Amino acid sequence: MSASIHEKVSVVGAGTMGNGIAQVFAMNGSAVALIDLDADALARGIATIEKNLARVVKKGGLSEEDAAASLARITTGDSLSLAADCGLVVEAVVEKSEVKGAVFSELDELCAPGAILASNTSSISITEIAANTKRPDKVIGMHFMNPVPVMKLVEVIRGKETSDETTALVVSCSEEIGKIPVEVNDSPGFVSNRVLMPMINEAAHCLSEGVSSPEGVDAVMKIGMAHPMGPLTLADLIGLDVCVDILEVLRAGLGDDKYAPSPALIERVKAGHLGRKSGKGFYDYE
Ligand code: NAD
Repeated sequence: MSASIHEKVSVVGAGTMGNGIAQVFAMNGSAVALIDLDADALARGIATIEKNLARVVKKGGLSEEDAAASLARITTGDSLSLAADCGLVVEAVVEKSEVKGAVFSELDELCAPGAILASNTSSISITEIAANTKRPDKVIGMHFMNPVPVMKLVEVIRGKETSDETTALVVSCSEEIGKIPVEVNDSPGFVSNRVLMPMINEAAHCLSEGVSSPEGVDAVMKIGMAHPMGPLTLADLIGLDVCVDILEVLRAGLGDDKYAPSPALIERVKAGHLGRKSGKGFYDYE
């Protein structure tokens, strides 16, 4: 067995999550291939990593040399073939089952037989994703939290056929990059989004039913429940399109319409107001 699965890592998808995941691995010494179909997304991803590394340097958490070395460990491109020689691939493309399925099927063809293929999915079944490969024992959920460089949790999700060895390797890899892994079983939304998304959706219902303003809803949850951030601010950070996708997975997977996304979410997504990443969501960031 190789010294570590994360000597060379590939991250597929350079959006909100992918660039943070690439940054954390690079800061911990991994060579990282960051892959996205969209050249603009890659450029934005690298710019975000540069900005975040500079912030860590300013706070005294990293020397300028180490920040430069971390950035230099990241290569970018649009082809999944860049993942061919990696011990670990972390997929962070859009939360659509068919898109993830196609990515996993191609990765399975391209990657070394021993490579672990992890998904950062928020809600989609790991067993279902693994069915697109001939190595379901090496497919696992590695669910990082947003913002990745800051948040400690990695929810580690075992699919039906994920092996003990794969799970142990991913747990120790998560610890080695400074995270705290928590193992959960495969079920729609796992634990994190099964609990979080209904709260965000209810907050959005409060808004569409005129119960309060965004500021009012968030203030109640911050001051009254000691949440560090209100649910609507958090939804803007996650991305409103991602919230809608996750709620639809919960609704279909658990067979309950109580998870139907609130009109306050749907109408913003239709208008392209996706939260922080588009400059506007429940709040204005422009
Ligand atoms: P995002 O929309 O910010 O980024 C997705 C990126 O994937 C885009 O840059 C897009 O160009 C790229 N992409 C799409 N199809 C691709 C393909 N076939 N090959 C390569 N790249 C492709 O999304 P995000 O918020 O970073 O979410 C990514 C994943 O992480 C989703 O599964 C989401 O559910 C999960 N997640 C999101 C959050 C969050 O707070 N946003 C938290 C935890 C997990």
